[in-house]
Amino acid sequence: MRPREVWITLALVSMTLAQAAGAVVPKPPSASASEPRKEQLRKEWQNYNQMVSDMKNDLFATLDKTELQTVNKIEIRVEGGLDGTKGDDVQNCYALMDNGHPAVLLGQGFLRSLWYFIESLIYAEKYRAYDKHEKYIGFVLTSWQSNLTAASENRPPRFIPSPSEYFHWNKATIDTVDEAASPVWAEAVACVLAHEVGHHVLKHTSRNYLAEPLPAKRRAEEDADAWATSTLCRAGHPPLFGGAAIAYLQALYDDLGSNTTHPADACRSRALFVASIEQADKFKDGLAAKGHTPADLRRVLKARLAQFDATGACKH
Ligand SMILES: [Zn+2]
Repeated sequence: MRPREVWITLALVSMTLAQAAGAVVPKPPSASASEPRKEQLRKEWQNYNQMVSDMKNDLFATLDKTELQTVNKIEIRVEGGLDGTKGDDVQNCYALMDNGHPAVLLGQGFLRSLWYFIESLIYAEKYRAYDKHEKYIGFVLTSWQSNLTAASENRPPRFIPSPSEYFHWNKATIDTVDEAASPVWAEAVACVLAHEVGHHVLKHTSRNYLAEPLPAKRRAEEDADAWATSTLCRAGHPPLFGGAAIAYLQALYDDLGSNTTHPADACRSRALFVASIEQADKFKDGLAAKGHTPADLRRVLKARLAQFDATGACKH
C-alpha cells in the first residue's frame, strides 16, 4: 500500500468521531458560476474571519488564567483579500508584533487549499479516484506555489479549480463530499490555529527565532504541536484526521522543498496520537460536553495508532 493510500484509510477511521465531536465552523461558500469571482472571494473572506473568531472562543475557553491572558491579546484574522493568496503572512505577523500586537494571520488561499485538499482525499477514498486524485493534488500544490510567487511579484494569481470542478461529478456526489469534508476541515483549521497560538503562549515569537538553528526550530514546532494537542483535547476537539491532514499536506510541501522548519514526517502525526492517548483522562470535561468519554477517545486513537504503526511510516 502506498503511503498516501494509508493516510486516506486512516482518515475515514476517525471521521465518525470528528463528526460526532461537532464541526465548529461552516464550510466555505461553494463556487457559483453566476456570481462574480471577486464577490465570492469577499464573502468567503468575511465568512472565514467570523469562523476564526468563533473558533477562538470555543477552543481557548478552558485555558488557565495566565495562558488566557496571552491568548486574549492575540489578534487572529484571515488575510488574503480578493486575490486569495498572500506570501508575506510571516512578515506581517512580525511587523504587528514589533508594534506590540501579537497576531496570528491565516492565509485565505491556504484555508481554501486545505479545503480542496481534504475534499480530494475524500473523493479518492469514496470513489477510488486514485490516479485523478494524485494528479489533482500535484496540480493544486504547484498552482498554490506559483500563486505565492506571483503575489510576491505583484502579478495576479491563477485560478485553482475545486475538486468538484476538476473531477466533473454530479451534484449529489459533490454534496456528499462537501458534507464529509466540512467537519474534517474544521478540525484541521482548529489544529493550525491552536498550533500558531501555541507559539505565542510558549514565547517563540522573537525575531531571533527566524535565525535559530534548524534543530531548535523543530523542537519549538514539536512543542507548539504538543501544546495544541492538549488544548484541542481539553476543548473537546481531539486532533484526529484534521491533524493528520495538516501533517500530510506539510509533508507534500516538503517534497516540493518549500519548507524546512515544521516537522513534516509521519512521526509528527504519531506524536499527536500518542500525546492524545496519554492525556485522554485530562480532557474528561471537554469530551463530556460533546457527549464522549476519555475511553471513547482512547479507543479511536489506539485503533488508529495500531493501523498507523502497521505501515512502518514512523520508526519510533
Ligand atoms: Zn509552527
